[in-house]
Amino acid sequence: MDELSSISGILLSLIEEKMSSSPSIFNLWFNEFKLASLTDDKAVFTTPSAIKKNILSTKYLTLISSSLEEAIGFPLEVSIVTTEEFLSPEKKTEVKAAPTIAPYFERTDNVKDDEDEDERIISESISSPTSKRTLLDDYTFDNFVEGSSNKFAKAACYAVANEPNTYNPLFIYGNSGLGKTHLLYAVINHMKKNHPGINIVYKKCESFLDELIRAIRNGSTTSFKEKYRSCDVLLIDDIQFLAGKEQTQEEFFHTFSALYESDKQIILTSDRPPKEIKPLEDRLRTRFEGGLLADVQPPSFELRIAIIKQKADAMGLSVSNDLVEYMAERLQNNIRQIEGVLKRIYAVYSLTSAEVTKEKIDEVISIIDPGNIPTDALIEKILSSVSKAYGVPTEQMKSKKRTDTVANARHVAIYLIKHETELTLKEIGAIFGRDYSTVISSIDKVEKSIKTVNNYEAEINRLLKEIKGQ
Ligand code: ADP
Ligand code: MG
Repeated sequence: MDELSSISGILLSLIEEKMSSSPSIFNLWFNEFKLASLTDDKAVFTTPSAIKKNILSTKYLTLISSSLEEAIGFPLEVSIVTTEEFLSPEKKTEVKAAPTIAPYFERTDNVKDDEDEDERIISESISSPTSKRTLLDDYTFDNFVEGSSNKFAKAACYAVANEPNTYNPLFIYGNSGLGKTHLLYAVINHMKKNHPGINIVYKKCESFLDELIRAIRNGSTTSFKEKYRSCDVLLIDDIQFLAGKEQTQEEFFHTFSALYESDKQIILTSDRPPKEIKPLEDRLRTRFEGGLLADVQPPSFELRIAIIKQKADAMGLSVSNDLVEYMAERLQNNIRQIEGVLKRIYAVYSLTSAEVTKEKIDEVISIIDPGNIPTDALIEKILSSVSKAYGVPTEQMKSKKRTDTVANARHVAIYLIKHETELTLKEIGAIFGRDYSTVISSIDKVEKSIKTVNNYEAEINRLLKEIKGQ
């Protein structure tokens, strides 16, 4: 890979990450977006069409400039031209932007009114299997790493993808960043291959809502209804956004029933189970619960390791086993975050060929997830905050000294470490040269004091805030 395409790749992965909530929109505007030349004060990007050039230059310039700065370490003037203009510079009408480090704001909202992106991407790739690779292709069953936390959801999706209407509806729920959208895309990819010609409609719930509102405004609800009631498979992502939208719920109920009654497959995802989507009409809740409910849970340590290895391998990034484990320990709840960290590390690594180090990982995590600090540093912070608050030096907390003030500070430190870290009782005991029973009794004492001593709880809360840097 030459240098320009390598920088292009890094830049695109940073932009993709920032637009991770709208992968299809990212793909719509950024596929075939390339770095064509780079000098010490200017980067020129190309895109094939004038429409894309205009949209990128008006809606996405800040995002591009700030991501470029992130990728290469300094700001540059950015200009975007069509490929043709780049090849014949006399035709060129550039749109320039001053270098900037402003965060990205422009995103989906600007594009939404234009066209229905999700659908377009899907129908493009469905109608022409040989068409350009789309982002959608990145999400398959093959590259979905399986563990006990997502096995059931994956198996259910796979069953339905193989044979639509096995479970209907299929309702996948779980926190953000745990692979729900990945599974929906995997279903689509699988169906495209195995059931050519099948009419699949994928929609993010929010754009379903937008489309319905537009249809009502334009008096075109009949074609809206037709479209949704004539598909073979309907996938709605993040259905929790129906909460409180009465008119949409009503319309969705009729669509749902029409499809359901004609044995058409419906798959829904949500960040919570149906009973927690509120307010939601009872008849919809009953329908959602009437099929198969499958949850995705936060990944176990082993699954996190497997995912980090798979993603690093796919990027061609080599990370030692120790560091893979270290990352898996620190990034516990969200697979999207794991991916974000790897992409940033890759950006640094592929530009400088530097070795991936623990320090680099710490640095990247502190950018992506500022509240997430390494356990060692967290313990230090707790000890020093408690020491300052109660006027007891850290060595005394760790010593055998048992005066009231020292013992109280020790109890509080133990309580906070238990509260804020995942250390076991035994490990916490070891910090203070004591066994786990001391830890239990310290925690008990603090809990009792919280209930009985004036202002005790307020002080604990103040310490917690200080420790978390809030
Ligand atoms: P959700 O829709 O639940 O918020 P996504 O499906 O968008 O989450 O997943 C976030 C990111 O994590 C995606 O890039 C996805 O590919 C990745 N991911 C999630 N689960 C897995 C998994 N089990 N194996 C591989 N990648 C995963
Ligand atoms: Mg999602």
